[in-house]
Amino acid sequence: MVGVSQITNGNAVSLGTPRIPAVRNRLRDEPVGAPKRVLLAAPRGYCAGVDRAVIAVEKALEQYGAPVYVRKQIVHNIHVVSTLEQQGAIFVDEVDEVPEGANVVFSAHGVSPMVVQSASDRGLHAIDATCPLVTKVHREAVRFAKQDYEILLIGHAGHEEVEGTMGHAPERTTLVNNPDEADTVEVKNPDHLVWLSQTTLSVDETMETVRRLRKRFPKLQDPPSDDICYATQNRQVAIKKVARDADLVIVVGSANSSNSVRLVEVALDHGAKAAYRIDYAHEIQQEWLDGVATVGVTSGASVPEVLVQEVLRDLADAGYVDVEPVVTAEEDLMFSLPKELRKTKSGATDERGLGGRVRDKQLS
Ligand code: SF4
Repeated sequence: MVGVSQITNGNAVSLGTPRIPAVRNRLRDEPVGAPKRVLLAAPRGYCAGVDRAVIAVEKALEQYGAPVYVRKQIVHNIHVVSTLEQQGAIFVDEVDEVPEGANVVFSAHGVSPMVVQSASDRGLHAIDATCPLVTKVHREAVRFAKQDYEILLIGHAGHEEVEGTMGHAPERTTLVNNPDEADTVEVKNPDHLVWLSQTTLSVDETMETVRRLRKRFPKLQDPPSDDICYATQNRQVAIKKVARDADLVIVVGSANSSNSVRLVEVALDHGAKAAYRIDYAHEIQQEWLDGVATVGVTSGASVPEVLVQEVLRDLADAGYVDVEPVVTAEEDLMFSLPKELRKTKSGATDERGLGGRVRDKQLS
């Protein structure tokens, strides 16, 4: 165990018994001609919206008993999903797969009004774990649509959050996937136009998309406040600082996690010589470490800290025992749980109903 167990970004491990495929002592401690070290980005890992969504499923299981159905992955992390499955959660793609009258949780990425209606039509008891920062974007979409704005939504086609947001103003929203599409997107009324965005995009790429949109549509209006959320922004700022000095950056996060994938891109754009995304420590390849003195480590907003600690253990096996935190912000935001889950079975207020986990829980 390396001496970093106390280094956290304030996030406790959320899930009781991690099921991590451990493969110890795979990596060799090869000389590299310079002192080996790890730069550990902070903030990293769980954001307030993920924390809330995962607790919501755990509490729903506790309150209503298994099974509890969850529409889509509650958050985009394979470890979180498999651990909740072990506890009795059943993940489905659509609400029509949920037995009538059962409990269903909507994921942190949000849903369109059509999904809410379908759940109601089936008599489901729906618990909405949509991140409040995604709900904020939904409300913006509804408000601008009511004011007859045309909405250019910057985001990635097929992402659940984008589908949910577009569903709030389907007639008025056009998706812009990337800066190149800003050069070709067609609008009906360039004088009454606003842009909104997915919460987990690259800040730099989004600003480039907006710059190119505004070149064509000078009256394009900005959203009232940032749609790219604080957690996405903070993790990108931290990895930029790490990447400047890193020969290799390892991002812990799943392939379908937008903000994790963005962290790899941001690291490469800001000086990292190489960057890889992994779900688990055992995916680190020996050859990635050839000639590498400094390894940067971070994790996406849906990643429990225990997975990062596993990476640090494996890197220590390979001689990277010196771990330096690179802290660019402190985070203490918490969101209240969905209202149905704020009480215990006996009716008392559940302290987790205040939003966060017990923050001084030790990592192991
Ligand atoms: S990444 Fe941002 S928008 Fe998504 S759940 Fe976390 S805080 Fe909410």
